[in-house]
Amino acid sequence: MTTRPWDLPAPEPSPGSLPAVLGLDRAALRALAMEWGEPSFRGDQIFEGLYRHRWDTWASFSILPGTFRTRLQEGRPIGLPEIVESVPSTDGSTKHVFRLADGLRVEGVHMPYRDRSTLCLSSQVGCAMGCTFCATGSMGIGRNLDAGEIVGQVLAMLRRHGGSPASPVNLVFMGMGEPLHNLDHVLRAFRILSDPRGLAISPRRITVSTSGLVPGIRALGSHHPRPRLAVSLNATTDAQRSRTMPVNRVWNLEALGECLGAFPLQRGERITLEYVLLRGLSDGLEDGRRLAAFAKRFPSKVNLIPFNATESDPRMADFQPPEESRIGELCRILSDSGLTVSVRRSRGQDVAGACGQLVRKRGFRA
Ligand code: SAH
Ligand code: SF4
Repeated sequence: MTTRPWDLPAPEPSPGSLPAVLGLDRAALRALAMEWGEPSFRGDQIFEGLYRHRWDTWASFSILPGTFRTRLQEGRPIGLPEIVESVPSTDGSTKHVFRLADGLRVEGVHMPYRDRSTLCLSSQVGCAMGCTFCATGSMGIGRNLDAGEIVGQVLAMLRRHGGSPASPVNLVFMGMGEPLHNLDHVLRAFRILSDPRGLAISPRRITVSTSGLVPGIRALGSHHPRPRLAVSLNATTDAQRSRTMPVNRVWNLEALGECLGAFPLQRGERITLEYVLLRGLSDGLEDGRRLAAFAKRFPSKVNLIPFNATESDPRMADFQPPEESRIGELCRILSDSGLTVSVRRSRGQDVAGACGQLVRKRGFRA
């Protein structure tokens, strides 16, 4: 049997020699304070300093006793990833490139809207899943991000763009990587980001998007609280889905549908089905009808994503976005079946920051 990349042990997160404090949840920071002979509430103060006040140097932590602050300054980096490149798009969104402690790079996207902003986060350097329409998939997997590298993307983007408590922030794990292949760190980041004493982002505003890793979906469902679930369906027959998404050869549409039907939902919660429209491959009217039937097996909403090309990638030559008229026809089929449907007009296309365009073309470090 061939080894599937996602069955390999999850690659280790950052090999940094001094563990950064970013990524420790409040309980861990309290334990750290006590380890260093300080009362545990000092850990809460560090947490609030990092996430509520968003201080980024130890010098700002004047609430801590001087000796403790000096020890932290000397012994524990905060660990904020550095933004080494920011590319603004004409549509108002900005793609950011983060350099991690070991020099590897990942990308995140800030998307402002009138009354809120959405941050698109990476969970891995590259991705092991190999979906053929996705530029990230062509990179292969570098390593998992740790929780600090995930929350660091949020802090760094909020610092850059501001972000007042009055305008809510949505977080979507739709950048590089398969988040359910790195569930422990994604969930730890989720706990930190939603902690009421820090950024206090509502769990309802945090969404994890998976290519359909059935055991990962089951594991996510066993946690409470947890982020919302989005699933990249992208095809309505096993033949087509297996061609573009190798994960379908292991967990096919029936296994996925069964697993989603059993996923424990909160009252009013729905699973988002993302569906990339590839002209002539996944955008037929029959596809629309099969998609509707799949989506009606559980509370759901459908998000159609016209394919975004990455010009420089020869593998993408096989794919075209759908005709505009076809998008309308598919929306009608879905809404006539009683489903909520939206079309994702991907932001940041001109700066290769849209869905499926996040790729480090010259390898993980460049
Ligand atoms: N790995 C996760 C999340 C990141 S991809 C996942 O696959 O769900 C985020 C979304 O972008 C997914 O729904 C994916 O299907 C979609 N996508 C990937 N490549 C794309 C492309 N070239 N054009 C449009 N959407 C794409
Ligand atoms: Fe990975 Fe998602 Fe791209 Fe597939 S679509 S290769 S799972 S990032």
